[in-house]
Amino acid sequence: AKDKGRNGYQFYNHKMGVLVEERAEIEHALHQALAHHELELHYQPKVDLGSGKIYGMEALLRWRRPEIGLVPPDRFIPLAEDTGLIIPIGEWVLRTACAQLGAWHANGFPHLTMAVNVSARQFLQINMPDLVREVLADSGVPAECLELELTESLLMQNRDLVVQSLEQLKEIGVTLSLDDFGTGYSSLSYLKQFPIDVVKIDQSFIRDVTDNVDGASLTKSIIAMAKSLHMTTVAEGVETEGQLGFLNTNLCDAIQGYYFSRPLPSGEMDTLLHAGARL
Ligand code: C2E
Ligand code: CA
Ligand code: CA
Ligand code: CA
Repeated sequence: AKDKGRNGYQFYNHKMGVLVEERAEIEHALHQALAHHELELHYQPKVDLGSGKIYGMEALLRWRRPEIGLVPPDRFIPLAEDTGLIIPIGEWVLRTACAQLGAWHANGFPHLTMAVNVSARQFLQINMPDLVREVLADSGVPAECLELELTESLLMQNRDLVVQSLEQLKEIGVTLSLDDFGTGYSSLSYLKQFPIDVVKIDQSFIRDVTDNVDGASLTKSIIAMAKSLHMTTVAEGVETEGQLGFLNTNLCDAIQGYYFSRPLPSGEMDTLLHAGARL
């Protein structure tokens, strides 16, 4: 239906079964996405393994494109980074997530935390501590309730500048997490020089914990090492009861994943919270 032919901006690639668009076309559409209110956040709960309760959530970006549908972030964030659009988009994510958290705080859930993903490109191009201070003040959310999820690639560049910004963020009082741990090249001991509070163990490790001994022992040692460095651990992509059992046995602090809940629009998250859902 979307076939405009090869001379147009988009065509249906029958071999691959996908709609192919010119990059310029997507870029143009992404430019307007913010102004046209096409971006939205979904929220995935994080559950504390000690209490079985939801203690916080992660905000995950979605692009609702007219006539195309919901576009996952992996399909447009790289483009947003290349074009610099990640700066206004990232600010919108931070403001929207904090405003939503403020509403939940005011409506019966005063201790919930909100985690926001920050790409390296975004972090390095703006003054993150200034933006965070401003957004916290505007939303009235306490700094302790905001968590920033950072990538290993950020910690591999501009070390002095990054350490300085991270230290300022710690002074403000926000929690700093390392996303997708284990997929990069850094060891936990390399991370000692950064003020990281939480290690999020990548889902590729969690997938393996019940299938092979190497996966199990790697995950065990990540949890043990993180603890020895006084970092807490969150397992990502937990999908099965078996994985949950393993993480409980090995004293992981918290989980996130389809086993408990997929990322949800704010209304559905609200329902889950009011239902008192627990593990
Ligand atoms: P991430 O930060 O590692 O987020 C976790 C991803 O795993 C999410 O994909 C989530 O939907 C998915 N997931 C959660 N539980 C499970 C599970 O049990 N099984 C499986 N198979 N997947 C699970 P999503 O939402 O498509 O996001 C993909 C990536 O896009 C994120 O990975 C993050 O790197 C990036 N991203 C999302 N929102 C933002 C944002 O606001 N800003 C930036 N810079 N990046 C974002
Ligand atoms: Ca994340
Ligand atoms: Ca992750
Ligand atoms: Ca990821």
